[in-house]
Amino acid sequence: MFDTPTRSSVGWFFLYGLIVRQVSRVSALASRTMSFSFEIEATAGAARAGVFSTPHGDVKTPAFMPVGTLATVKSLDPDDLVQMGASMILGNAYHLHLRPGDEIVREMGGLHQFMRWEGPILTDSGGFQVFSLAQLRTLSEKGVEFQSHLDGSRRFFTPELVMQIERNIGADVIMQFDHVIPGQSDEPTARDASERSIRWLARCLAELKRLELSQPLEEPREEFPGDNPRNHQALFPIVQGGIHAPLRRQAAQAIRAMNDWAGFGIGGLSVGEEKDAMYEMIEVVEEALPPTHPRYLMGVGFPEDLVEAIRRGVDLFDCVAPTRMGRNGTVFTRDGRLNIKRTEYRTDPRPLDPDCDCAACTRFTRAYIRHLFVSDEILGLRLLSLHNVHFLLSLARNARLAIQTGDLDAWARDWLARYRTASPLTV
Ligand SMILES: [Zn+2]
Repeated sequence: MFDTPTRSSVGWFFLYGLIVRQVSRVSALASRTMSFSFEIEATAGAARAGVFSTPHGDVKTPAFMPVGTLATVKSLDPDDLVQMGASMILGNAYHLHLRPGDEIVREMGGLHQFMRWEGPILTDSGGFQVFSLAQLRTLSEKGVEFQSHLDGSRRFFTPELVMQIERNIGADVIMQFDHVIPGQSDEPTARDASERSIRWLARCLAELKRLELSQPLEEPREEFPGDNPRNHQALFPIVQGGIHAPLRRQAAQAIRAMNDWAGFGIGGLSVGEEKDAMYEMIEVVEEALPPTHPRYLMGVGFPEDLVEAIRRGVDLFDCVAPTRMGRNGTVFTRDGRLNIKRTEYRTDPRPLDPDCDCAACTRFTRAYIRHLFVSDEILGLRLLSLHNVHFLLSLARNARLAIQTGDLDAWARDWLARYRTASPLTV
């Protein structure tokens, strides 16, 4: 037959192309999991100094991650963050889904391109926001129906939808959708939420794998050069369980059995429980998680908590406190917090914190920053945020150094004693 050889050639060519595509897809999938690694350089008790490698660069741990909820760390330019030594920042799936919309972020090349941040990014799944900010929640096994805090529109988040949202946003590390409860919740409530979070984790994992296979690898776009971040994402599970040690252990065990994760989130802490309960839960989870992987304590970032948690083996932190408190005039200093609004700072020639080398403290007096703040000048808010973020970044850096030099215990003891003994002027 005249056309048989031609059809046959086309068929073989097609088959060959299919094989090549499948092989390259398999190797791409392999490199996805290999795009993340964690190397521990030194330890001090449970504490570790490590390097968490991501497709957008390395994060030296312990590290504080500034929070850029709406694709901006409030009042700070990405260049400020680079100068302060921030390596990884956060975005938020709930907020970016509502505004500008995760499809728009995707259309603009993903969050790295959209906000011009070249380093690693982590997105929170929105679980915390759905359960705390949104109104009229209706929870079912399928997901959560809620009203947007912006316009009251009805939304329905499922683990599957959240994976698509986080994929559109394109962060390096994406958190699972979880069921978040208040910190003081009783055992049955905490068990119900923890077990649901684990079932939702299985659905997140299955959906992410499906999306990776069904949505082809994306080529770098002409207007946005560089590798496309959506080709390399690591899903982090979240260990829940409230303040109930057996639940925390069970959650960690079930999560570990499900997959070879690149790292682990520790959720549901610093949400109203006692500090001692929080520290105890960190110790329980630390023992239940593999020592080889990074641990991210979600939403915890007051200076004293950072030090206590680093001693207990936590590697990554985030918290809105430095920028939110900065906007209220509260300043972290080596000698405790101070409130810049107080009248005694009207003529104070000292920097916010004499021990700080940030761009605010090396140039401006408390008197000037107080004047800006009480006059509602934007620069005042910016300098206070800049200092507070710098304070936490350098605190994590100093803790890392203490781990490496082998005197973390003495360093932490001295640091906490001085911080907690605030001078009368700075209370
Ligand atoms: Zn400073």
